[in-house]
Amino acid sequence: MKGINDVNFAGKKVLVRVDFNVPVDENKKITDDTRIMEALPTINKLLKDGAAVILMAHFGRPKKGGFEPELSLKPVAEYLSGVLKKEVVFTQSIDFADIQALADKLQGGQVMMLENIRFYPEETKGDIELAKKLAALGDCYVNDAFGAAHREHSSTATIAQFFPNNKYFGLLMEHEIVNLKKLMTAPEKPFTAIIGGSKISSKIDVIKNLLPLVDNLIIGGGMSYTFAKANGKRIGRSICEDDKLQVALDLQEEAKKENVNLYLPVDILAGDGFSNDCNIKYFPEIDIPNEWEGMDAGEKTRQMFGEVILKSKTILWNGPVGVFEFENFAGGTNSIAKYIAQATDQGAFAAVGGGDSVSAIKKSGFADKISYISTGGGAMLEYLEGKTLPGIKAILD
Ligand code: ADP
Ligand code: MG
Repeated sequence: MKGINDVNFAGKKVLVRVDFNVPVDENKKITDDTRIMEALPTINKLLKDGAAVILMAHFGRPKKGGFEPELSLKPVAEYLSGVLKKEVVFTQSIDFADIQALADKLQGGQVMMLENIRFYPEETKGDIELAKKLAALGDCYVNDAFGAAHREHSSTATIAQFFPNNKYFGLLMEHEIVNLKKLMTAPEKPFTAIIGGSKISSKIDVIKNLLPLVDNLIIGGGMSYTFAKANGKRIGRSICEDDKLQVALDLQEEAKKENVNLYLPVDILAGDGFSNDCNIKYFPEIDIPNEWEGMDAGEKTRQMFGEVILKSKTILWNGPVGVFEFENFAGGTNSIAKYIAQATDQGAFAAVGGGDSVSAIKKSGFADKISYISTGGGAMLEYLEGKTLPGIKAILD
């Protein structure tokens, strides 16, 4: 692992790609600073060494090419300045002559931050000319943006080739890789994966890649209705991907071949509308009439899933098992969180990832009990699919 801990960056100008794509409200106030806080260990280590730190990040999805005031990273730079208790030199300009001049002046112990890197349309194309201009700003390159590691962009991947002997993983990135490796290579058995969420289509490749590895596969949430329908059950108005019925049957077959125990919901809490205040009805079996929609796992299902989780030594959870955004249908997802917390107390290694799953585990109050919470939604899923992430490969090459 090419980490930063064994290197002293004194006197160096270090280019650091971070993931500062934080959620903001209509007044540009940051509503969740997790991503900023998680980049601090790397930034602080470099500053402590006496390096000058130049941060690169993207924010939202600029479309026009060029500066867009509503997607400026300025509020993030100001926020970071507040938590570091130190000036963050914000480039404002996206003109490289201006940026280079600021970078040249930057001293050890100082922090500079570039504007939204996606204001350059070349960024998402992985353009080498842009990468070259960025590379000219510093002496070393550190990638700490796990959340963008599945993107082959100029600042996440292409840039690394300009630093053949001084490119490194940041501490956050290293933590993610170490834990994902632990999960996917020789996990302690029994290994249970809990896969939920709304759509089977977004998780097919994850499930396929996990089947040879896991002992138990729990399928919950919206995607379980595609399985249920494929198995000839009535699912009413529940979410279902009719073009994936055969995929569901194939995955079941594959699970059997791999000797994986597959667990699907056996009872359901349904609603007569997609809202928190709809009428709620309990179905003791998956046999849901037309006017009802499956919204959450029932009590029997929660217990069945719980028993499997409590017997596991390695646990991976991606995808809520109900519409947890509605309080009345968050019970199933919260019970998964509770059982996983209990299993970790008993010594299991538990990993949780996925944008919605992470927000669910935080809401549940059990987040601090989880061994490893991934900061990358898409990046983690692609890793679990067995893909090589360009952001990781670029450092290792
Ligand atoms: P993650 O972001 O953790 O990978 P997904 O995006 O795959 O998770 O799925 C999360 C979404 O799945 C949530 O918005 C949740 O409301 C939805 N979901 C879960 N169960 C159901 C259900 N029974 N019907 C509709 N949507 C569901
Ligand atoms: Mg999601």
